[in-house]
Amino acid sequence: MQFAAIQDYAPLKRHLIHIAQSNQVPHAQLFWGPEGNVSLPLALAFITYLNCQNRLEEDACGQCASCLKMKKFVHPDVKFIFPTSATKQVIGKDVVSANFLKTWRTFLHEHPYGHDSDWSYYLNSENKQLSISKEEAREIIQAVSLKAFEGAYKVVLIWLPEYLHIAAANALLKIVEEPPPHTLFLLVSVYPEKILGTIRSRTQQIHIPAFTDKALSSILAQQCSLNQEQLAQITLLSDGNLNKALKLVENMTGDYFDYFKSWMRLCYAHDLTKLVAQAESFQEMSKAGQRNFLAYSLHMLREALVLYFIQAGLTRTTDAEQEFTQKLRKTLTHQQIKEWITWLNQAYYHIERHVNPRILYLDLSLRISHTFTALA
Ligand SMILES: [Zn+2]
Repeated sequence: MQFAAIQDYAPLKRHLIHIAQSNQVPHAQLFWGPEGNVSLPLALAFITYLNCQNRLEEDACGQCASCLKMKKFVHPDVKFIFPTSATKQVIGKDVVSANFLKTWRTFLHEHPYGHDSDWSYYLNSENKQLSISKEEAREIIQAVSLKAFEGAYKVVLIWLPEYLHIAAANALLKIVEEPPPHTLFLLVSVYPEKILGTIRSRTQQIHIPAFTDKALSSILAQQCSLNQEQLAQITLLSDGNLNKALKLVENMTGDYFDYFKSWMRLCYAHDLTKLVAQAESFQEMSKAGQRNFLAYSLHMLREALVLYFIQAGLTRTTDAEQEFTQKLRKTLTHQQIKEWITWLNQAYYHIERHVNPRILYLDLSLRISHTFTALA
């Protein structure tokens, strides 16, 4: 991973390059920020730059022996530590990062913006609790005490140190405070407040914010084939989380706005025949598609509710969506919108628990339809 592969975040990249060039790299740093942001890719690009044998002004060369090893995540001086759990094949004291490296490399290639839940899926850990064990701490201490290395720095990258078992965290205190020369600890966290305070206070912290809507939208426009309306919807639903956005794209079945509008109109018209047909089409969506559509509908209702309290133009909707949420806001009382939000939240909960989607959708439609009838 090179800096060039990361869009946006120019000031942070410049800052890291400056640190590397100054040769005063802090021995323990903590990159922290929300899920689906660039913390992990940025850490990888930083390590690549630090060990590049032919550094350029603004990036690693991408071609030297060190860069090539970093590209494959096989650099011998970079120790990757991440949360693990027992699987069918790996149990007991063998549950340490070193025994999952092949899976980890695949994950980094395919999901550099992934969450712990995605990683769990790769690990095939069957919902077992993830953790970074005391055994792992022992391995880290042993690895950094080995003298020989090929790069300028030996780096221990700990992804999600919030999973450090308390015994592991305590065992690492001394080495994080005073690692051997040319050894760096790089911690990449989503919830730094969950890391043992005495570990956290030994690091220099760098906050890495979520993507801006503009940056996210430009990445999606380059990587995915979406029309303007879909692009706008996904950007607004993703809150700067690229991982979430890519999942929404993957599960997008058509245009949620059109589907939502048509749903509301059929409910308003009390058109039972068409509502039954729509419930069938809802059933045919993938499970993720059903969840996303409900999440989108909730988003629209919340925006309609917000219009009671703030001016139009300050909401997270496109112009066409805003026109529609204005109509809802004018037709319904805010109690009614709140009630719908409760129903949709319940529906979302039930979809997760495998309730029949056709019946669920029809039930929701009838309730909504009834609200409209009661207004007339
Ligand atoms: Zn290089």
